Amino acid sequence: MRIETVAVHAGTRVDPATGAVTPAIHPSTTFERDVDGSYPRGFVYSRNSNPNREALEECLAALEGGQASAAFASASAATSAIFLALQPGDHVVAPLDAYHGTLRLLRETFTRWGLETTFVDMSDLDAARAAIRANTRLVWVETPSNPLWKISDVVAIGELARRVGARYVCDNTTATPVLQSPLRLGADLVLHATTKYLGGHGDVLGGAVVTRARDEFFERIRAVQASGGAVPSPFDCWLVRRGIRTLPYRVRAHSENALRVATFLHSHARVEAVHYPGLASHPAHDVARRQMTAFGGMLSVQVKGDRARAMDVAAKLRVFTRATSFGGTESLVEHRASIEGAGTRTPENLLRLSIGLEHSDDLIDDLGQALL
Ligand SMILES: *Cc1c(COP(=O)(O)O)cnc(C)c1O
Repeated sequence: MRIETVAVHAGTRVDPATGAVTPAIHPSTTFERDVDGSYPRGFVYSRNSNPNREALEECLAALEGGQASAAFASASAATSAIFLALQPGDHVVAPLDAYHGTLRLLRETFTRWGLETTFVDMSDLDAARAAIRANTRLVWVETPSNPLWKISDVVAIGELARRVGARYVCDNTTATPVLQSPLRLGADLVLHATTKYLGGHGDVLGGAVVTRARDEFFERIRAVQASGGAVPSPFDCWLVRRGIRTLPYRVRAHSENALRVATFLHSHARVEAVHYPGLASHPAHDVARRQMTAFGGMLSVQVKGDRARAMDVAAKLRVFTRATSFGGTESLVEHRASIEGAGTRTPENLLRLSIGLEHSDDLIDDLGQALL
């Protein structure tokens, strides 16, 4: 079935007890045993599994074309579960510009736990090839990557990972399953911050791992989910599942708006550079066209001038809200170097834009007056 149909139906069914068309929320932490001691409905205790989480996991697996999925309280918890499924001493290759929380986990928490990581510019295939060693156990890719929206070649990096028998993970948060299907492009696992486009309304934190195969590695992730306990609440699962119903339509509208805004900024006299994979001027536009069906709602703009000028433009915006995160209905602007803090590689004149679902003319007018 097509993704629009999957987004509406996967993991949901009319409740046989009540006829309710919209799924109920099941806050119960515990479930009844049968007289013989068995659990005929499959649920025991909500840290292990819950009807709302099961429905969401079934839906996420269907959206990505995977066999199974595990939902977490945040994408950072999902990311940690993947690293915890490795062994101390294992070697990881990760992008220099992965989500800053992922980088912090690798640099701080998991270095102490015994993982060794080589950070590399994954948009440079030769650099990725040089970083992957015979003992590499995990290769992490995030494309488009934040905040320069660089594109990595998912198929080509997958071939490098497979050559050494490393697991291959793609953070598909920015592209979403609407625009990019990493499992079909060769990834073993997909990571999502459902906090972003899948939830889609800026009102729920969540993450998930989707697996191509229900193998031993995924069972280890499941064990971390159940025994570590960083699980989403039933209401959080319900909210993400509800958000997904409109995902394909929202993501297409975000993408159309973003392309129009990027095109406007690209030709603006007070703009130094626009970073958006949908522009023909993007260095990997051809790779993006090959592996994505559209280019998403995220872009960055470097204004002509310094940090103060970028701050001034952000301050003058009226439709855009100054805030971090992305993927909601409202447009956001963020001075990215500020939130990334000390050691950031992000240019000081860069503003990251999360293009929302407002009319693109209103967004363009707002940017036009702020850049004056
Ligand atoms: C937001 C984000 C994360 C982390 O999500 P949380 O739910 O805040 O932990 C991971 N990867 C990407 C690409 C993100 O944008």
